[in-house]
Amino acid sequence: MIGVDLGGTNMRTALLRPDGTILERRKEGTRAADGWRKVVVRLAENIKHLQTIAIDKGLALAGAGVGAPGVIRMDKGIVIKSPNFPDWNNLPLKEELERAIHIPVFIENDANAAALGEQWLGAGRGINSMILLTLGTGVGGGIVLNNQIWQGADGMAGEIGHMTLIPHGRPCGCGNTGCLEMYASARGILQSYRESLEAAGTTPSAEITSERIYQAARDGETVACRVMREMGRMLGIGIANLINIFNPQMIVLGGGVKDAWPLFIGAVHEEIMRRAFQVPAERTKIVPSLLGDDAGMVGAAAVALQKIRM
Ligand SMILES: [Zn+2]
Repeated sequence: MIGVDLGGTNMRTALLRPDGTILERRKEGTRAADGWRKVVVRLAENIKHLQTIAIDKGLALAGAGVGAPGVIRMDKGIVIKSPNFPDWNNLPLKEELERAIHIPVFIENDANAAALGEQWLGAGRGINSMILLTLGTGVGGGIVLNNQIWQGADGMAGEIGHMTLIPHGRPCGCGNTGCLEMYASARGILQSYRESLEAAGTTPSAEITSERIYQAARDGETVACRVMREMGRMLGIGIANLINIFNPQMIVLGGGVKDAWPLFIGAVHEEIMRRAFQVPAERTKIVPSLLGDDAGMVGAAAVALQKIRM
């Protein structure tokens, strides 16, 4: 199998055995500003390089799975639109890639692919229903039910970051206001911290980063501690909603914000205890992701594997 994680910054490609063992991997800058044609050509070259390696090893390639950001029509493999790729409008990515690499290609939303990766070989190994939340610049999500990605009617399911938490809250890029993403992401934490300082009459430093806020909280700085607890509360409310709707065996938290785990997880559990139906008590485990940056690539290969075996 070939697994691809096509991100806005990097394209990661891997050659995997059907059991998920990574035999070879590549990583290259995506350079989305070059336009879709060049990005697709570069991606195809990376895959072809892995194809050569597979041939040298005497392996037959069954197909490629690609996790890509944005709104995707999974059945046709078309990227309708993508925030990371401004010129990708109704791009037939499956068709373009298949023409170049001559093996079946399957496209999936990147966060959904990452969720399947974690369920297959990461934190959710051995369980069949779990939800992944990726706490990065934004909040991504993927829902795996009975070993399958839940795609919804139009492939739009799993947009957990855009769950409304505050009816007239911060405006979000999606057009809604008060989305979970605006509070539980690195960007949300930065905004909360700035707002707290401004409310106290202090001008926040322009160099402030989310990592510095985590460090300040670890050092016991009052504002940073409060901001991280508030982030945990918002995340906990979102997770309590998910538990009430899906009753999953596990919620996996990934993304860069995960590094600040001890600063927010207490507040997450408090909100879950307060709001979620727990049958039996503490049914749903909340755990950090295990695969990190590999989740999308591994999950994309799993998507292709499932489609080929169907
Ligand atoms: Zn939103």
